[in-house]
Amino acid sequence: MSDLPRIVVVGAGIAGLCSAERLRELGFDGEIVIIGAEPTLPVHRPSLSKQFLTGELAAKDVLTAPADDLDATWRLNTSVSQLDSRRRIVHLPGGEELDYDGLIIASGVEPRRHPGGLNGHPRAAVIRTRADTRRLRQLLDGSREQVVVIGTGFIGCEVASSLRHMDHPVTVVGRASALMSNLLDSDLATRLTDLHRRNRVRLELGVKVESWAAGSARIDLLLSSGRSLSAACVIVAIGSAPAVSWLRDSGATLDNGVVCESTCHVRGMEDVVAAGDVASWPNLRFDTTPRRVEHWTNAIEMGRAAAESLLSGRESASPFTPIPRFWSEQHGLRIQAAGMPAVGTERVSLDPASTSERSLTGYLLEGELAGVIGFDRSAAVLNYAKELQNKALVTAGARPRPAQLAGRR
Ligand SMILES: Cc1cc2nc3c(=O)[nH]c(=O)nc-3n(C[C@H](O)[C@H](O)[C@H](O)COP(=O)(O)OP(=O)(O)OC[C@H]3O[C@@H](n4cnc5c(N)ncnc54)[C@H](O)[C@@H]3O)c2cc1C
Repeated sequence: MSDLPRIVVVGAGIAGLCSAERLRELGFDGEIVIIGAEPTLPVHRPSLSKQFLTGELAAKDVLTAPADDLDATWRLNTSVSQLDSRRRIVHLPGGEELDYDGLIIASGVEPRRHPGGLNGHPRAAVIRTRADTRRLRQLLDGSREQVVVIGTGFIGCEVASSLRHMDHPVTVVGRASALMSNLLDSDLATRLTDLHRRNRVRLELGVKVESWAAGSARIDLLLSSGRSLSAACVIVAIGSAPAVSWLRDSGATLDNGVVCESTCHVRGMEDVVAAGDVASWPNLRFDTTPRRVEHWTNAIEMGRAAAESLLSGRESASPFTPIPRFWSEQHGLRIQAAGMPAVGTERVSLDPASTSERSLTGYLLEGELAGVIGFDRSAAVLNYAKELQNKALVTAGARPRPAQLAGRR
């Protein structure tokens, strides 16, 4: 199968890697070039806020090895500056132009920058790359001084949990009134907030950082509540933005990510597909609204689906209709979600014996189960994920493909 002699993958993350592996599994025998801005092979990012931060995993353990027979050319430490889809080339440093026959966009997301300009300060950190976590560990090394985490999303919460595990005093600051309220309903978010309090995470919620001032050893923050905090280190975890600057003026539709059709084909382009955190697509299993999903499992499955769609061509490709799955670990609690709880309009308990520690909650859309969230209910969430796979709503015309999870956890 050499209709497409060279396929270029932009983004050497897990979505890019899985798309390349799937191309080979499907018999593609042309050239595969994987271009990645980071200097390493794909990183297991979930570990960066957990076991790699706490030191339970070493630097080499967070790299994801490619399949032995991948036979790809890796261009690491290399950023694509622009895509010219008319000429079918990507622009590389030093004026180099690389042409492609098929293109897979898997450039992920970048941490959002603090509007007050905190990110550039040597005592401020973000967590997206292995180098970021390494640097944070160096900043923390030997110190038992206060650390401030700005942001109440899952990365901010996981970092706070890891820091408590390492016995650092930590304060989480955020605009929301409860932790992870962007992903959890108000009851679950309140329970998670209580769990952090019980683990002696200090919380400054419903506030924003008005201003900051830095000395050589500390950063002082003034909050909108009038309180001030002084920290040896500030971690900025205020969300992420799709890495699409290289796609400006390329003809790709950009709207909170690269907008794709249900098959992962990029809207408005030929022989270009997208996968992972950067891609926004309508999951016809649930509805027709394009959305991005920033979860590890989705990046694996979508990378594989995008490769299939690229080889099949637009006309014959199937829609990508997965059951999204997500997990997080905080203070020993395993939080898991399957499906799309956010589209649910009704909430039900699926576990009559639920306690404040363990629970299973279902989210219904028009009376049908659209998603579940479990607190320490791994087996049950997996079972419901299987049930959703068979029963969830499917928009007319969608032919769901079986979930293809490569088992990378
Ligand atoms: C700290 C942290 C913890 C997480 N924990 C969990 C978790 O517990 N559970 C969960 O489900 N998910 C978790 N996630 C999310 C999960 O890791 C992501 O969904 C997944 O890594 C996305 O993979 P990706 O390949 O789409 O993007 P990425 O992994 O971001 O890879 C994209 C790559 O493209 C590169 N790139 C960008 N622009 C260019 C360019 N112009 N040229 C060349 N290369 C470029 C980037 O440098 C990057 O290496 C976590 C994420 C982080 C950061």
